[in-house]
Amino acid sequence: MGFSGADQPSPSIYDTCIRCGLCLPSCPTYLETMTETSGPRGRISLIKAVGEGRLDLLSAGFREQMSQCLDCRACEAVCPSGVRYGQLVETARTQIRRAQAPGETPRARALRRFLLQTLFARIDLMRAAAGLLRFAQRTRLTSLAGVFGLGRAAKLAPAIPDRFFVAQDQRIETSSSRGLAFLHVGCVMSAVFAPVHEATLRMLQRAGLSIVVPRDQGCCGAVAVHAGEMDFGRELAKRNIVAFERSGADVYVTNAAGCGSALKEYHQLFADQPEWSRRAESFSLRVRDVTEVLDAMELPAPARPIDATVTYQEPCHLAHAQRVSGAPRRLLAKIPRLRLIEMDESAVCCGGAGIYNLTQPEMALRLQRRKIAAIERTAATIVATANPGCALQVAAGLRDARHRTTVKHIVELLDEAYSVGRDAGA
Ligand code: SF4
Ligand code: SF4
Repeated sequence: MGFSGADQPSPSIYDTCIRCGLCLPSCPTYLETMTETSGPRGRISLIKAVGEGRLDLLSAGFREQMSQCLDCRACEAVCPSGVRYGQLVETARTQIRRAQAPGETPRARALRRFLLQTLFARIDLMRAAAGLLRFAQRTRLTSLAGVFGLGRAAKLAPAIPDRFFVAQDQRIETSSSRGLAFLHVGCVMSAVFAPVHEATLRMLQRAGLSIVVPRDQGCCGAVAVHAGEMDFGRELAKRNIVAFERSGADVYVTNAAGCGSALKEYHQLFADQPEWSRRAESFSLRVRDVTEVLDAMELPAPARPIDATVTYQEPCHLAHAQRVSGAPRRLLAKIPRLRLIEMDESAVCCGGAGIYNLTQPEMALRLQRRKIAAIERTAATIVATANPGCALQVAAGLRDARHRTTVKHIVELLDEAYSVGRDAGA
């Protein structure tokens, strides 16, 4: 069986690979295995072999490599030929999922639909699930998770905070506003990282922006697209495009790198739908990571020092997919007395990668340990990052290794540093 129908990996992409191998040292799974098939060049060859009818789409080796890839895009960022690797692996996964669908057991189908089409798509259900988890954590019921086969998930879960962040058409006016920002709330961020959203609102205000948080927005669709649920990803994308168009905002701001990367690439989802392609392109051009916005607004240096050694864990989807790596560092460097120490392999994936740590637990654990060892060498007491997946994966690794190092989003550190002086209490 080969590729068929819509959403096929395109020969115009895989044929641009000149097999130079420059991407290999950037690939986390290649670094761990030193195996050609577990690297980008090998995976591109496998995709080409299926495309040319030399390998079966559902062969065990092909399925294994398409799911072992983190879709971290580190290979794409260094490729001299400009191979759009992310598009290759995401369409290959879509092809596998569609081919497997007829043989799927009802239980597997129900579980997949619940995870990808219900939990991640319905933010209210995500919050309800987080509320149950919070109850279990406080009554110590999580110790029973292993009985239900959920031990790994329970281990990764952070302490769920007391409050959620709910989009309910909030509108925050800032005097002498420099523009109107739409805040993307997201699914995991809404349920687990309310304090990061609150810090983001305060920082955007300090940057002189007014903000809207429309309730008709939703999940960005990244998890669905990465898992090969391309059609469902399109539905989610349309919802956010419409919400942004209705809002009248100038810029669509996200504080989650994984969401930002998906939002900036919506136009790629609609190549066959000219009307949506045009709307998606105009939408994607207005998406910015919060660090890009704050960096561009050239805030004065903050008044309050943070006397700590900090290292920066680069989210793959910020560094490689969005190519944003200077802004986060420039913002951290503004904070008085903060010592920024670069870790080795800052931009090598920590193994979080959406739901990768649940689908590929062994490789996720190897990469998590590699990351924790790199953090240890910096002697940092704070790890700064800009993505919920990295924050959860690194924090779980630090907990496992019994480290006291904490993980914070960059906007939390900035908010702390800017929370005195003329805008105290903002
Ligand atoms: S760097 Fe690009 S062209 Fe070279 S092997 Fe990797 S994907 Fe192919
Ligand atoms: S996306 Fe990441 S894991 Fe996959 S081949 Fe490229 S560098 Fe390796």
